[in-house]
Amino acid sequence: MPRESTKAKLARAKKIFSSLQKTYPDAHCELNHSNPLELLVATILSAQCTDKRVNVVTAGLFRKYPAAADYARADPAALEQAIKTTGFFRNKAKNIQACCRKLVERHGGQVPRSMEELTQLDGVGRKTANVVLGNAFDTQEGIVVDTHVRRLSQRLGLTRHDDPVKIERGLMKLVPRADWGRFPHLLIWHGRRVCIARAPRCFDCSVEPLCPSSRVPAPTSRAVSS
Ligand code: SF4
Repeated sequence: MPRESTKAKLARAKKIFSSLQKTYPDAHCELNHSNPLELLVATILSAQCTDKRVNVVTAGLFRKYPAAADYARADPAALEQAIKTTGFFRNKAKNIQACCRKLVERHGGQVPRSMEELTQLDGVGRKTANVVLGNAFDTQEGIVVDTHVRRLSQRLGLTRHDDPVKIERGLMKLVPRADWGRFPHLLIWHGRRVCIARAPRCFDCSVEPLCPSSRVPAPTSRAVSS
């Protein structure tokens, strides 16, 4: 892709946003939750796992462990067993338990509302903190960059970076703050349904004319003139 001016990139990002917004007016977080703690736990479980699988697991998990104190005093083997099918379950169980112990010790069992406090919890990086802040507290301190947001930002030419923190910083400059929560949902929905990792369906893509990675052949001069 030829180098694009900042002005042109901002205009293209705006068009991408509004086109995806029309395509997915109902885009939302697909991890089932009814409070900030449930969303925090579900997001930790979602690493290397589908939201569908996490939702199956959390249906029973949230009934068994309704409060941070319940995870904090849980039998580690029972917790591991309960989340086993989400993968990397030993590490996830360890993080959830250590995270919830800190919630009990430092925050009265409540999930804190700032990026700084959230990222001090075990197993919580910027991505998880952004998910919780945006979806549980309607607070935008940054932009969620998961595997879909990373891939789509790259394919759409919105970033040249691979590092999620650098991608997030770049997107924060391209997208108005009011849309920081909405934008990743749109990319994630598009990434799951159309711009799939192994085989993007460019012919069915609503942002194809705006995408430098489109696999749709450009019209030939003969096709254009005929
Ligand atoms: S045109 Fe293709 S590569 Fe670009 S966003 Fe659409 S599906 Fe993805």
